[in-house]
Amino acid sequence: MTQEATVVAQMRQLIQLIAQHNHAYYVMDQPTIEDSEYDQLFHQLKALEQQYPALVQPDTPTNRVGGQPLSKFVTVTHAVPMLSLGNVFNKEELFAFARRIEERLPNQKIEYDVELKFDGLAISLWYENGVLVRGVTRGDGETGEDITQNVKTIRNLPKVLCDGKCKVPDLLEVRGEVLIPKSGFEKLNAENLAKGEKTFANPRNAAAGSLRQLDPNIAASRPLAFYAYGIAQCVPHHGLSTMSESLEWLEHFGFAVGERHFVCDNIEDVQQFYKQIIEERPNLSVEIDGMVIKVNDLKQQKQLGFLSREPRWATAYKFPAVAALTTVENIDWQVGRTGTLTPVARLNPVAVGGVTVSNVTLHNIGEIHRLDVRIGDTVSVYRSGDVIPKVEKVWPEFRPVDAVEVQLPATCPVCGSPVVMPEGEALARCSGELYCAAQRIETIRHFVSRKAMDIEGLGDRWVESLLHLNLLRDVADIYHLHEHREQLLQIEKMGEKSVQNLLDAIENSKKTTLAAFIYALGIRGVGETTARMLANTFQTLETLRNADVEALKKTPDVGDITAEWIVDFFQAPHNLEVLDRLLAAGIHWDAPIAPTRQPLNGESWVVTGTLSSMGRDDATQLLQALGARVSGSVSSKTKCVVAGEKAGSKLDKAEKLGVPVINEEQFIALMKEHGQIEG
Ligand code: NAD
Repeated sequence: MTQEATVVAQMRQLIQLIAQHNHAYYVMDQPTIEDSEYDQLFHQLKALEQQYPALVQPDTPTNRVGGQPLSKFVTVTHAVPMLSLGNVFNKEELFAFARRIEERLPNQKIEYDVELKFDGLAISLWYENGVLVRGVTRGDGETGEDITQNVKTIRNLPKVLCDGKCKVPDLLEVRGEVLIPKSGFEKLNAENLAKGEKTFANPRNAAAGSLRQLDPNIAASRPLAFYAYGIAQCVPHHGLSTMSESLEWLEHFGFAVGERHFVCDNIEDVQQFYKQIIEERPNLSVEIDGMVIKVNDLKQQKQLGFLSREPRWATAYKFPAVAALTTVENIDWQVGRTGTLTPVARLNPVAVGGVTVSNVTLHNIGEIHRLDVRIGDTVSVYRSGDVIPKVEKVWPEFRPVDAVEVQLPATCPVCGSPVVMPEGEALARCSGELYCAAQRIETIRHFVSRKAMDIEGLGDRWVESLLHLNLLRDVADIYHLHEHREQLLQIEKMGEKSVQNLLDAIENSKKTTLAAFIYALGIRGVGETTARMLANTFQTLETLRNADVEALKKTPDVGDITAEWIVDFFQAPHNLEVLDRLLAAGIHWDAPIAPTRQPLNGESWVVTGTLSSMGRDDATQLLQALGARVSGSVSSKTKCVVAGEKAGSKLDKAEKLGVPVINEEQFIALMKEHGQIEG
């Protein structure tokens, strides 16, 4: 294709898309994309037209307004065309708008009238001798729909104008916007929901949908309101000289105008008010999608005149986009601390929701397939308020021929271990576990925790420093830290005493239990209870290491999936290497009591209240070592309750159900009897 043909094809594609969305928005009152996405398509087309003016297509929407009037209404030709507005999205564009005006009006003082930009439906109202005779939609700007009967049902709109401070003109055409204030909108949707009827996506659609109905009863039943923002005709002439005076004049006749409007001496102040209104926006009574900046002086407005679609003397200053189009430059896979692989789309940076977004998580491979997003694709990124940006939509129409489909990597991008994704699971994982650097911190944190190897003092600050010094590549390195005493001493704020405390704690942790050690390994699906069951069932690490899925499944608490995870763990050579180094460092334990010899095997016990000689966790461990399951609640199946001081509802329940209860003294005696406590 020649370059010219490519540009024309791009233009045609945008024109077709815009036409499709215009229909959804203006005719059906049911947009399917965000306004900001639409604005971007429009801007793309405008930019192409500016670059290649000779190729501008005759049916371009960039010099037209709105949509076609609906044929079910009588159409009315506007005496003064109802135009749209140009728009700016940031300070630079706003200042450029001001510069263009200053260039056309050299050496003139320019004031700006700043108003709210109502997000509703533009209409024109005709008053003859003070009586409302006609209401017309903007339509395509030249011709609109006669919706007089509907307009007359709008409650805050004066049907008759009365003489007061000002004389009622013979003819007055007022322009403004119809919308449903926020409170009314919420109520309307709540009522519709209760009646099982459809709810409206936003107040603009609700207002447009209500007004463009043949039956005025529908409009009458909706909480519509009209806000005036300008005078198109006035006979005899009103004699006003500024926009801001016009608003006051309209108010005087009973028209509602925006709850905020300002006059600014310079464009810098306009920028300040824009920021202020963004903050005030949630508290305003109506939905707005920006501000409208107008040259205040009506004579200057006349001098500046119009372009085909919009006045030169005004512009919309829209709020930050909630959705924006951009392209996916790449998709990287990030390995989280627990080994989960998350795809992250690297984007061509785009401003959305007031911030620049260049990375967006795609969550998992399933989401990539659902969206069918490929590298090179144009996507819509959505962000509203504090919400984390997300890819909302892919635009297949903009897909380049060389777009690359995304595959789940076979190996971990961090450690090269195979990536696994068990059937039925949404998340892929790196199988590197103890070996994978990305999983290291979490693995270490778990390994040293109290119920695992219980290395008190090896907190996050230490771990981070040690990782930084490359002294902890895996958990086995913990037991070699004593070889680096000098380096440890150099770590900021770690004095001789804390280093010694740490090394002592590490040394002490070498004597553990098989259950704690299994738990410390952080095998997926193996929590504290399962680890204990495994220790009791298999008795030695060697037997557990060699157990197959079938053997593992015989352990209480271990289902198919956990059994597979355990096998996978003990099959990965890098895990075995770390395991061997741990054992070589001197980690050891006493043989667990065989289940057959466990006196409380399979019994359900509950510990409640405060024990004076030990914590509840300690009591739990003692019971578990004898084979009991320790539960958090009392039921008829509970074998016995250990009740300390201030035992509350659990004790009551046990008594009610007739479950045996023993006190701390009796509990200690029982433990001594079974050799769990010396004595
Ligand atoms: P616009 O809404 O950007 O701005 C022009 C309109 O602003 C005027 O016609 C006027 O009615 C209104 N307005 C509100 N407050 C005003 C005030 N204080 N003073 C003067 N005018 C005020 O432009 P538009 O031509 O009405 O519509 C185009 C816009 O509609 C797009 O930018 C987009 O946001 C939206 N749109 C969205 C879709 C979609 O699919 N989501 C499709 C078509 C159009």
